[in-house]
Amino acid sequence: MNHNFNPESLMMGYGYKPELSEGAIKCPIFQTSTFVFKTAEEGKSFFEVAYGKRAKRPNEELGLIYSRINNPDLEILENRLCLWDEADECAVFESGMSAITTVLLEFLKPGDLLLYSNPLYGGTDHFINEFLPKLKIDTIGFDPDESIAEVKNKIKASGKADKLALVFIETPANPTNHLVDIESYKNLAKEFSSANHEVIVAVDNTYMGPIWQHPLKLGADLVLYSATKYIGGHSDVIAGAVLGNSELMLRVKTLRTFLGNMAGPWTGWLLMRSLETLKVRMEQQQSNAVKIADYLENHPKIVETKYLGLLTEGCEQYEVFKKQYSGTGAMVSFSIKGGEAEAFKLLNSLKLIKLAVSLGGTESLVEHPKTMTHASVNEEHLTKLGVTDSLVRLSVGVENYKDIIWDLEQALEKV
Ligand SMILES: *Cc1c(COP(=O)(O)O)cnc(C)c1O
Repeated sequence: MNHNFNPESLMMGYGYKPELSEGAIKCPIFQTSTFVFKTAEEGKSFFEVAYGKRAKRPNEELGLIYSRINNPDLEILENRLCLWDEADECAVFESGMSAITTVLLEFLKPGDLLLYSNPLYGGTDHFINEFLPKLKIDTIGFDPDESIAEVKNKIKASGKADKLALVFIETPANPTNHLVDIESYKNLAKEFSSANHEVIVAVDNTYMGPIWQHPLKLGADLVLYSATKYIGGHSDVIAGAVLGNSELMLRVKTLRTFLGNMAGPWTGWLLMRSLETLKVRMEQQQSNAVKIADYLENHPKIVETKYLGLLTEGCEQYEVFKKQYSGTGAMVSFSIKGGEAEAFKLLNSLKLIKLAVSLGGTESLVEHPKTMTHASVNEEHLTKLGVTDSLVRLSVGVENYKDIIWDLEQALEKV
């Protein structure tokens, strides 16, 4: 009898064969740079597949060659990550930035146009605005208050509509939790595609994935992660991932082979360990976040709390939320009465919650986006996007929510 197991039931053993590793229940760390071929013919055949000289035969697995091309700790991890997003293929990278820049470099060439949502993760924003122009790649960013019709007009007015090659979206936006409708931008991409020119849609799903949002199911072509965040989940490893269909992923994996920015076996092993608890961690973080957002929303010293669980029925953002998400996440941003001084007083007064950038780990973290994660973004633009002096970002961890609220309460009293 066939049974479709849920991803969380498969995270402990999927894709690993104990009989190939002395019966060890867990996949060992294959700390090796290269793999011995049984015969020269086998080596030749492995390379034919690895370098795309021929397609894989039915049921053929890519043989192990060299750890820049493949390694069991990466392959098994990639197979497990595919389950959450129902992707054909996955490539794991040494960082989220490696995953993002490899996609940008593979799907854009000189003369092309990139469309992207604002605000973006600071590192991505920097690469797009500081590095891509050196390759003569044009870029157009769109803001939360721009309608899709306005965005289309902007593309047409640029005179480069036929050069649009990639749409890069981050939703919810960091740190404002603004939502971008993936399906609408997939339709935009189709409108600017032609028979021999397909516009690709890539979504950075770090904030809500791989549990609460599945961009591939909503029409995106590629989904990207900083696996440093929820996937790693313990603030002890830097890594990234890209997932999509076999055709696009062959391109991503081939460029990864030649840039050499794959993750190492130790990172693969750590992330496999993290995946076993991914769902329980994220669910606990979310249930804590719901209570904390509710507490902040009702606090007299807090002007506004931005949390997906606080969106109200009837608004456009709520409609996107309902269509796109199966949860409200664990990222809460809020504006404190006053400005930077009041925000800093709060940050400096916390006892349990740590003052650090990054997110998605087991411990709660707070930061001040304007002067920290988003310090490189133009100030006027930040204000327009809602990233002000009084805005604080909180990544909710797995602690007892009562302790997190106690900590916020005692710190807010000091402000
Ligand atoms: C952290 C982060 C990145 C960058 O990932 P690294 O693993 O730090 O390289 C990209 N996108 C988002 C949304 C992030 O939060």
